[in-house]
Amino acid sequence: MQKTELKPSYYDQFTCIGGACEDTCCAGWRIDIDKKSYQKYKNEKNPEIKDALKKNIQRNRQGQNDLQYGKFKLDPDGKCTMLDEENLCTIQKTLGEKALCHTCTIYPRQNIQINQTFEKSLDTSCPEAARLILLNKNGIDFIEDEADIPTFSFNYLEQQDEIRDYFWVNRMFMIQVLQNRTHPIELRLLLIGLYMKKLESLPLKARYKQAEKLVATYLPLASDPELPEMFKEFKPNYVKHQQLAKYFLKSFVAYSERFRLVAGLAFEEKDLQKTDIFENTQTFESFIKKYRPIYKNHEEIQMVLENYLVNLIFSSYHEKKSQDVLAFFSYLTIQFVLLRLLIIGNINKLQMNEDDLVTMIQAFSKAGMHNNHYIPTSLELISLTGYSKISQAIHILVL
Ligand code: SF4
Repeated sequence: MQKTELKPSYYDQFTCIGGACEDTCCAGWRIDIDKKSYQKYKNEKNPEIKDALKKNIQRNRQGQNDLQYGKFKLDPDGKCTMLDEENLCTIQKTLGEKALCHTCTIYPRQNIQINQTFEKSLDTSCPEAARLILLNKNGIDFIEDEADIPTFSFNYLEQQDEIRDYFWVNRMFMIQVLQNRTHPIELRLLLIGLYMKKLESLPLKARYKQAEKLVATYLPLASDPELPEMFKEFKPNYVKHQQLAKYFLKSFVAYSERFRLVAGLAFEEKDLQKTDIFENTQTFESFIKKYRPIYKNHEEIQMVLENYLVNLIFSSYHEKKSQDVLAFFSYLTIQFVLLRLLIIGNINKLQMNEDDLVTMIQAFSKAGMHNNHYIPTSLELISLTGYSKISQAIHILVL
């Protein structure tokens, strides 16, 4: 059977900008080494590099699979210890591109083969990729084509027909709703939340059967002028937002200097002690109410959030046993809510032009989305006893 490839139209425009990069991927986070490369590095015979390799790599005992078997040691500035004085990779320089480990070869590409389709996308933690993804004025579109022989390795996911159909229906629904600009981004997410709540109420087998019918009911609502009416009783939960902001912007220890800078600036207000914002819910609420109108009416903010979410759905939702669409919706929601806090928290001091928005989202993506504890802790923070997971996610969307 002919294999196909599916990718956002920005994908082929990407090239690494190397030395011109403002936040290189060789610094600021853990750099994983897959098991095969790790063993190759440990046994390397080339006298020019073998000692450095032995010294600068180590096992990653917390790794969750063979791709996270080892890691490069970082210097005190958080830079990979295999870089030379000119910030060039000594592995690539000495042993060639083929000697790079899996992470360094594919980054920032995210590749997965689902049945006969190679799906390709990019990750917003790379600044150059983030620009291509986020600044699509008319929204991200996708290209389907015959597949070339893959030059990168792809993770493989086999989906049975029933799951494959369910996956496509859910993914198309989420993307179509998010790209329908009739209503603000919160309302689009709330509409997706309503659909998820309906799915949640059904047994698994019934979800597979009924998803398509449900989409036929819920999708037209994305263009319905009455949609805001459906959510008018929903009120923001400022206590939860404050808890999230406190964890995310004050307590979270990120390697990334860029993230620390934007997080450190957030929720600073003249004549106001920062502690008041994080400790006093009324002060926090006043801050949000004061700046919320600017956030809601800002076209570029709406655009980058839409593109971020669409890219996340395409690259990260895959419908397999351990990650079904309901868990994915909570994951999507928490990312949106944290990003929104970062943006609103900085709205009184940054211009929120394209550069500011790309910097914030790229820093957020690099610091938070590549950290194993970050999202699970955030999800715990929004837990409300007596509510289903989807209700919790819907609750936190309202602002
Ligand atoms: S972060 Fe992206 S643009 Fe920067 S060095 Fe890495 S791959 Fe290249």
